[in-house]
Amino acid sequence: MTDVTLTAPLQRLIDELKKLPGIGARSAERIAFHLLKAQQAEALALADAVRDVKEKIRPCRRCYNLADGELCNICADPRRDQSQIVVVEQPKDLISLEATGLITGVYHVLMGHIAPLEGVEPDDLTIAALVERCRAADVKEVVLATNPNVEGDTTALHITSLLQDSGVKITRLARGLAPGAQIEYANRAMLEAALRGRQEA
Ligand SMILES: [Zn+2]
Repeated sequence: MTDVTLTAPLQRLIDELKKLPGIGARSAERIAFHLLKAQQAEALALADAVRDVKEKIRPCRRCYNLADGELCNICADPRRDQSQIVVVEQPKDLISLEATGLITGVYHVLMGHIAPLEGVEPDDLTIAALVERCRAADVKEVVLATNPNVEGDTTALHITSLLQDSGVKITRLARGLAPGAQIEYANRAMLEAALRGRQEA
């Protein structure tokens, strides 16, 4: 609902802020008035940061992680072991796993999980590109680090079946992660246990 006491530009800003996750009407108003009062440069720095994220960040050509060039920082790093690919659902999972410091290999971001009820089929994900990577490069292990829930398990099973005859060792994170848990919210100790205890799929 539009508040007639607010000018249109301010109302527009509040309406946009309200669309953000975790921002309710009151917070949106508080942020909008803060930006209104802030120095021009400070407020515009936020606008520029938003624009930069949308214009400069794109998927890595190899692994679909967030990148600001052709390849993401991880794929471009010659010290990373290209023979181990850790498969995650989304960039946020990659960030959580990377924070453990235990991954020496590279990643592949699926950009979601298989969920037929939500209309997400294997072709909507980057699975074909993953299979292609395994064929083209000397990949020794694929670590399936999808979430321990129905969608994550379905996705992991599908990938396992596709790579069955590839000669690549396929492992799945151990169940140190409680069923239904999400990798993005798991703490370091849980992820470490899940990684160290990974088993052949
Ligand atoms: Zn990459």
